[in-house]
Amino acid sequence: MPKSEQARNNLRVLVAEDHSFQREYVANCLNQIGIHEVVTATDGKEALLRYDEMTAQGLVFDIIISDLHMPNMDGVAFIRNLAERNYNGGLIILTALDSNLVSSVTSMVREYELHFIGSLVKPVDTKKLIQYVSEVSGRKNEEIIHPLPQGLKEQDLIDALDSDCLTAYYQPRFNFSDGKITGFEALARLILPNGKIVTPDDFLYLYAKLNRSAEFELRIYEQAFSLAQKSLKLGRPLQLSINLCAHMLGNVSFYEEIVELAQRHGVPNDLVTIEVTERSLLDNIALSIEFLARLRINGFNLAIDDFGTGYSSIKQLELLPFNELKIDKSFLFDIEKDDQKKAIVESTVDLAKRLNITTVAEGVESQAAWDLAKKYGCDVCQGYFTGRPLPLVGIEALILS
Ligand SMILES: [Mg+2]
Repeated sequence: MPKSEQARNNLRVLVAEDHSFQREYVANCLNQIGIHEVVTATDGKEALLRYDEMTAQGLVFDIIISDLHMPNMDGVAFIRNLAERNYNGGLIILTALDSNLVSSVTSMVREYELHFIGSLVKPVDTKKLIQYVSEVSGRKNEEIIHPLPQGLKEQDLIDALDSDCLTAYYQPRFNFSDGKITGFEALARLILPNGKIVTPDDFLYLYAKLNRSAEFELRIYEQAFSLAQKSLKLGRPLQLSINLCAHMLGNVSFYEEIVELAQRHGVPNDLVTIEVTERSLLDNIALSIEFLARLRINGFNLAIDDFGTGYSSIKQLELLPFNELKIDKSFLFDIEKDDQKKAIVESTVDLAKRLNITTVAEGVESQAAWDLAKKYGCDVCQGYFTGRPLPLVGIEALILS
């Protein structure tokens, strides 16, 4: 059996959901990404039965996906039973949108010290499901098959490393205080032969799989540092923010590359912010600490990206020397209509201030979101409201204006 096929057969998933359509849909998605051992249950009671049967055979589920509203035994009781059985696989909660309920169940799951992967809102977003499953499979060092976006071939990605197809876009960032541009975040984009623009969510994992993550990163970093150099020459010292993908954390030689790039382009280290997501830190905490601490000691800035979406966010603020926090866009979206989001953003900004950490509101899409984030004392705005990601010519024009 080929290695990849063996790996796919290795993940075992239990889906507990009473609605047959949803249940089949999730099971189908899992099958499509190469997971063939999917056990389904129509309520919590049956799910627990399946769980016990598996345990009796000396086997375990790697992931359990559970609905909350189910007859006989609901998701909350099912989860408690899992905790009592010391289940140590991953848990994904499936639910209709009700942020209040999801957040309290999430805290319950964490109290039980279960490994919470995330929640999925129905109808299930396939991309998110793949992302969650990949995290678990990453832990098991297995391969997952991702469906490639339409028109994208693996060879395109290899070719892109030596062509202009792989390019950086730049999203401007503005101070809330005076509304002035303060910097830009470099974002990788892949331009397909048919003109379609693909974002990293759809191809990063492939570079990792092909063992070409470092080449990919360098290509984007080179372009971004050139722009930073140019803007310095124009007398506009702007902050360059750039993402570091999970696979690079702990790659010591890549740390040297970043230092060398800054030197070669004459960009002061303190004008550079390296962004890492919470999720990417999860599996690499020991290596990450060394890598990130060295960057910080050398004067680079460190940002925790998508703050609030991962597990034990606050713990990571304590462990790692971040000096910028990017509040995830989900908290800013429609914030004016949601008191919970308001409370989360306000208290996150307060916490960051007390820790001397700069805050960035991501995903600000409206005047209302801008006004609220500003009112709560957020420092920097990044979102469609103030500017979409632009290709090089676009950002150059903006810097010059
Ligand atoms: Mg980022």
